[in-house]
Amino acid sequence: MLKIGITGGIGTGKTTVCHIFETLGIPVFYADDESKKMLEEDEEIAHSIKNVFGEDIYHEKKLDKKALAAIVFNNPEKLAALNSITHPAVFRKFESWATQQKNVPYIIKEAALIFEAGADAFLDAVIVVASPEWLRIERVSQRDHSNESAIRSRMKNQWPEEKKIKRARFIIHNDEEQLIIPQVLSIHRELLNQ
Ligand code: ATP
Repeated sequence: MLKIGITGGIGTGKTTVCHIFETLGIPVFYADDESKKMLEEDEEIAHSIKNVFGEDIYHEKKLDKKALAAIVFNNPEKLAALNSITHPAVFRKFESWATQQKNVPYIIKEAALIFEAGADAFLDAVIVVASPEWLRIERVSQRDHSNESAIRSRMKNQWPEEKKIKRARFIIHNDEEQLIIPQVLSIHRELLNQ
């Protein structure tokens, strides 16, 4: 069973593409969602987060996500500290989830920071979802009601698209000119023939 990564910058359409793979019966692990969940549900992680960001970052057991985002997206050291807590935990969760997937030709790990985190070394291939920057900003501001500067500060912490494309085995162009379903089907067929 192959382990395939799906990555791409904010708003490129990773989740949208993963939903298509799911309709083909391919299990998908949403690493960024898992990471958010663990920040509230895993006591050891919450404890480490409080050590770095202070007790007030949680109200009762609820993480103040806006406050955390405001700190990390403008402070590379704090972002690295956050990632050093969440990335190993999410990595372990993915590996354990992977062992439970049976009778499927491949599984997918969806994460925004696969290459940045060096996680590609533990995957058989990586698919990059690519979209023009203006379209990504338009999509995310519509989806999250966030402003352009907040989106750009997240983008600053991600590799530029060209750098990811150079390391990708497959690219899906989600520019709303090329259809994405045929691109997914073509990759699916190739992976089934491995
Ligand atoms: P993030 O990095 O923020 O998690 P993402 O890469 O997973 O984002 P999506 O959530 O899949 O991106 O897409 C961003 C938004 O753009 C969503 O509201 C989605 O419905 C929309 N979108 C993505 N691709 C298309 C498309 N081809 N046509 C129309 N809308 C799209």
